[in-house]
Amino acid sequence: MMSVSAANLGFPRIGPRRELKTATEAYWAGRIDQVTLLDTARALRAATWDRQKAAGIEVIPSNDFSFYDQVLDTSVMLGAIPDIYRGLGAADSLDVYFAMARGTRTEAHDEGCAHGHGAGADVPAQEMTKWFDTNYHYMVPEVAPDQIFALSTTKPIEHFREAKALGYHTRPVILGPVTWLLLAKSRVEGFDPLSLLPALLPVYTELLERLRYAGADWVQIDEPALVLDLSDEARDAYRAAYAELGKVSGIRLMLATYFGALGDNLATALALPVAGLHVDLVRAPGQLDAVLSDAREDLVLSLGVIDGRNIWKADLTALLDRYESVAKRRAAVQIAPSCSLLHTPVDLALETKLDPEIRDWLAFATQKLEEIAVLRHGLAEGRYIISAELAANADSIARRRRSPLTNNRAVRERLAGVDAEWARREQPFAQRIKRQQAILNLPLLPTTTIGSFPQTAEVRKARAAHDKGALDTAGYEAFLREETERAVRWQEEIGLDVLVHGEFERNDMVQYFGEQLAGFAFSRAGWVQSYGSRCVRPPIIYGDVSRPKPMTVAWWRYAQSLTDRPMKGMLTGPVTILQWSFVRDDQPRADTCRQIALAIRDEVLDLEKAGARIIQIDEAALREGLPLRRADWRQYLDWAVECFRISASGVAPETQIHTHMCYSEFNDIITAIGAMDADVISIETSRSKMELLDAFISYQYPNEIGPGVYDIHSPRIPSSAEMERLLIKAGERLSAAQIWVNPDCGLKTRKWEDVKPALVNMVDAARDARAALA
Ligand code: GLN
Ligand code: ZN
Repeated sequence: MMSVSAANLGFPRIGPRRELKTATEAYWAGRIDQVTLLDTARALRAATWDRQKAAGIEVIPSNDFSFYDQVLDTSVMLGAIPDIYRGLGAADSLDVYFAMARGTRTEAHDEGCAHGHGAGADVPAQEMTKWFDTNYHYMVPEVAPDQIFALSTTKPIEHFREAKALGYHTRPVILGPVTWLLLAKSRVEGFDPLSLLPALLPVYTELLERLRYAGADWVQIDEPALVLDLSDEARDAYRAAYAELGKVSGIRLMLATYFGALGDNLATALALPVAGLHVDLVRAPGQLDAVLSDAREDLVLSLGVIDGRNIWKADLTALLDRYESVAKRRAAVQIAPSCSLLHTPVDLALETKLDPEIRDWLAFATQKLEEIAVLRHGLAEGRYIISAELAANADSIARRRRSPLTNNRAVRERLAGVDAEWARREQPFAQRIKRQQAILNLPLLPTTTIGSFPQTAEVRKARAAHDKGALDTAGYEAFLREETERAVRWQEEIGLDVLVHGEFERNDMVQYFGEQLAGFAFSRAGWVQSYGSRCVRPPIIYGDVSRPKPMTVAWWRYAQSLTDRPMKGMLTGPVTILQWSFVRDDQPRADTCRQIALAIRDEVLDLEKAGARIIQIDEAALREGLPLRRADWRQYLDWAVECFRISASGVAPETQIHTHMCYSEFNDIITAIGAMDADVISIETSRSKMELLDAFISYQYPNEIGPGVYDIHSPRIPSSAEMERLLIKAGERLSAAQIWVNPDCGLKTRKWEDVKPALVNMVDAARDARAALA
């Protein structure tokens, strides 16, 4: 007898109206007590279980809830709590938990820069980084060679019981031991966290036994690392780990893999003694055949067919065509999202203001569950039983395909005419830099900043008032002009060489452009968790992208009118706009990116026409777009670099193109960075003490470069001596003529009181280093 069930792997925990954010931030600020916070969380979990049941989901997860991050939950549960946090309370207390998440000084928690978090606290937060190739950030587990593990919290068990009391028999989700160890870091150089596996497994065994005792029969164990390039040691670790966990009787494991194909790890995964395997068939539909041909008869296959990473309605007929025979051939299958729905907004029902035509094409987490339930029904009972749903779905799929909203003939024709010339500057760097220098006349080690200045409470208040209609546009713009003027005057005063306008008019570096480009839509409540209580509302790219009119020229012109020094034009690059949006799925991402590149190119040219001599195109997200598998890097970097170059290459040789990137792990992509051929690149380096420059031992970076000397992620004010030392160090690897002096990133998350002395010191440091390096 075949069985088909509707399963979910995880649901957003923030609540439809970001209730969890409101509650945790109120708790951090001391406005509500712990009991109230816990009550809010419990109510959210109950509502989430109800919602899943109402949608028709049969396999409902528990323990997908988290106050901050599921990796942090796992670390705390396993007792991997570094000593600095242990004194702060009991291992299972919220105090310790939030200290690991955010450090202990609340004001250090920044809204804004996605990576500017928790730094500068009395007890620093754990390191945070991106979860695989998503925009979700997890807290990096930290382990020591003498690490002792012990089951220190029992959240999975408690939440299983909590659901049970409400009438839900859930499938608890836990993060698997191998992925957790592969994500872990140790401060001891050369120590491999994977060697701790034998010490870790007894804790997992205990956890599984206690879950069984509480009444669980299935447990979803997430091992997304199985889609990565793995070493033989890691594959051995999988075999060892699951040989052990497979011994726990009475618990059946659903091994969940997602974000890509198992590929060369498929045989390893299929040999593990687990009862079920979840595979991502959205990212990697091609792996279906191999999985089907090699999987044990009795292995329960969980088919991840609904996109957990994007917001488009699924084509149900196409899915039935594809999976009907699979369902018939296998003893048991589950229909599921490709991964946890954590990465999608909660409910489309809240989008009352979205263009109804576009809204009809979308499915948020709640709607995705409904799709899963419909598919299950059709697969289990035959298509006729869901004919009404199928017809409605086919109509909306067809409407989207035909819609003039998605197609702009002019954009397509223009793109068809784009050839290699569009991605090439008229002259090579060596020639154009001379012309640029002749015009700009900058000193050795020119000083500049990355673009934004503090987005103070007043700036945010004015924006909110304008959004609400309480402040009219004239009033708002007058306010912004004043802020800009003050920033420009101050930069002149302290002697910066290349100025910025401060970006006070921008809500966000992607949203600001998306709102002015055609082909973008914005949701009202389409929030997705980025880290902790921080949520983002990614723009939705639904159609061909074009730029109806200049986006930044007026602000640039105003700022430049205030000064004789060069004012940088400031843009977000095509790859970053793509990366931080929900991207249409009806054409390759590279094509959408090229369209954005053309729109940005138009803006670059308009800035040049208006008189801008320096234009910066930020590509903060270029690196995070790297595919999970190295074999796929080349292709991605080829189109990503090409898109940047299309946006940057229309200008005359005299116009200087800058770019900025917010990271320092460059070594593996340094040639691609060089291939972008920006005249000047600014990057993050101060925290790593210029470690990045090691890349330049073997690779001669050809153009100019500003290795950040001021760590903007911390309120700490660096002295001029320490910044000078960094510059001298940079001078050992690069020629002095190549070096620019700038902070690590934009300053929008900082306070003026930190920024002012820090930049004064930076200008001093540049002056002293100039003398030393000349
Ligand atoms: N120009 C942007 C700013 O300064 C760059 C931000 C970023 O790279 N994250 O805010
Ligand atoms: Zn940055």
